[in-house]
This record gives sequence, C-alpha cells and structure tokens, in this order.
Amino acid sequence: MTDQSQQFASDNYSGICPEAWAAMEKANLGHDRSYGDDQWTARAAEYFRELFETDCEVFFAFNGTAANSLALSSLCQSYHSVICSETAHVETDECGAPEFFSNGSKLLTARSVDGKLTPESIREVALKRQDIHYPKPRVVTITQATEVGTVYHPEELKAISATCKELGLNLHMDGARFSNACASLGVSPAELTWKAGVDVLCFGGTKNGMAVGEAILFFNRKLAEDFDYRCKQAGQLASKMRFLSAPWVGLLENDAWLKYGSHANRCAQLLSELVSDVPGVELMFPVQANGVFLQMSEPALEALRNKGWRFYTFIGSGGARFMCSWDTDEARVRELAADIRAAMGA
Ligand SMILES: *Cc1c(COP(=O)(O)O)cnc(C)c1O
Repeated sequence: MTDQSQQFASDNYSGICPEAWAAMEKANLGHDRSYGDDQWTARAAEYFRELFETDCEVFFAFNGTAANSLALSSLCQSYHSVICSETAHVETDECGAPEFFSNGSKLLTARSVDGKLTPESIREVALKRQDIHYPKPRVVTITQATEVGTVYHPEELKAISATCKELGLNLHMDGARFSNACASLGVSPAELTWKAGVDVLCFGGTKNGMAVGEAILFFNRKLAEDFDYRCKQAGQLASKMRFLSAPWVGLLENDAWLKYGSHANRCAQLLSELVSDVPGVELMFPVQANGVFLQMSEPALEALRNKGWRFYTFIGSGGARFMCSWDTDEARVRELAADIRAAMGA
C-alpha cells in the first residue's frame, strides 16, 4: 500500500469525481454503438452546446497535448506559425507535438506578463517579419487559466481577438483549467470564448475530475472541416467513445464542473492566505485560479520535500508550484501551510 495522502504537485494527482464515475458506471451497463455514434457522445455534445449557448462542433480526445496539437493543426498550414506565450504548455510541455501534428508549423514565443499575452506582445511577434523567408503567423494560442495561475478577463480577451482579426490570425484557447477560469471570473463560458472572439477551445476534463479526456469545441465551424479525420489519424478516435463522453455528461448536467473549479480555487486562495505573513515566502503571481506559486529558499524547499511534500519547481530557482484539485481537503491545505511556516523557521 502506497501513501495516498493528498499532494499539491499537480491537479492531475487527484482521482475521478463521483459525477464522472457514476456516469461511466451507467455507460457500462450494456452495449452501445462505437466511435462516437452512441447516445452518451450525442448527449455530451448537446450539453456543451447548451452550456456555451451556441451551435459549436464538439470532439473528444484522450488528453490535452493531443487536443491542443490537433486543434492548432486545423487552424494553420505547415508554413504558418503559431504565436504563444513563452510559458505556454504547447511550448514547454508538449514535446513538439503541435509542430509534429501540423507538419512543421513553428511556434513563436511572445513576451508575457503573469503568463498572459497582450495585444502589444502579439503585434510585436506578428509584425516582426513579413517576408517569404519567415513562417507566416496565422494563429494565436492563449491559456485560460494560465500556466502560472492567472486568468484573462473578458476585456483582455476582446482586445486580443480584435488584434487577431486585424492581423488575420485565428484564436485558440488552451482551457486545460477553463473551469477554474470560469469559476474565478464568475463569467459565462460563452463570454470567455466565442463572445470574446475565440475560434476554438480545448476544454480540460482531466484536471476537472475526469479520468481522461478533453473536449475540443469549434465555435468557428468552418475550421472543424475534416477534424474527425485528423483525430483518427492521430490515434485520438476512441472506439469506446462513450467512456470519454459520459463523464462529461456527469460533470456538465449539474454544474459539477463549476462547483469543482470553485472549490479548487478556494483552496488555493486559502493556502495563499495562510502563508501570506510567513517571512521569506513571496507570492510569485496573483492567485486567480487553483495554483499558488511561492518563492522560497532552497533549504526550505528541501525541508518540505523531506516532510514528504511533492511539488514542481520548474518556474525558476526557488519557485515552487502548489496546485489544488476538485477534491482538495482543506485540512491538508492547513497542514501544508503549517509545514511551509515551519520550513521557513517562522
Ligand atoms: C495539463 C495541461 C494540459 C494537458 O496536458 P496533457 O498531459 O497532455 O493532458 C494542457 N495545457 C495546460 C496548460 C495544462 O496544464
């Protein structure tokens, strides 16, 4: 028996939420049609259209890397480029999959502040070169909530999409933590996506309480042409699709997705409050979603590790990331905060 205590290394350390689990159990009661031709997949797609208040095209993939890479591939040709933040998951954590699946579309990184692109940083990269020797910018991808736990407000999204329109760029949103962003802003999914000019959203299920699965929503339906073939070729067409789609029905039908997003956000808020007065601990980014990034001394980080805490330190030296999940226990947050305080000798 291994130690099953809750950790804060990632929101994907958590298990499956009851709603997703129950829906999978129901989907498992008998036989159903394969390759997405089943009633669960139809229901899940219908729930997405209701939730987003629009007739979008909906697809399901196993994970976020595939969802992002395939979505980006459908927005550009191989000789095009994709503008992203220097901290974007597509740039730092997908092993070149966006370039691979698009047959070579280059990612161009732009300056970001608190993990966010701005119209200015997009413009800077998009207009840097306009000659035949440089891959032509065609897409902007933004992450909501960002990799550093911040969120884009609707006004920021609208300003970005206006810049995209002006420069002829499609707009993709990596929503691995879209539920956390909606919960944080208290804004409808429609306001944060198509109403703000987003063409395609990859909506994360895994970090929101599912076992596996991300949904890809095309608000601009023209861009979804042949996307089903793209998924199949990439090995992302689940033959027992109902087990990718049924959990979405469970998450969407009673707003469980939002409840869990809020819960994770509240836990992150609590953690940041509990350590806010610890001498030597600095908050690296505003806490707007379910992540808390703390700057601490190396010996303090080592002391935390020695107490059994697991966390990532990929954001520069002395920076530690703590992620809260749909099921994070408040008592565990308090334990972590107390150990951080002890590790700092406060
Ligand atoms: C977790 C995550 C993904 C998806 O990653 P996979 O491991 O491929 O499922 C995508 N984008 C962001 C910002 C993430 O945090």
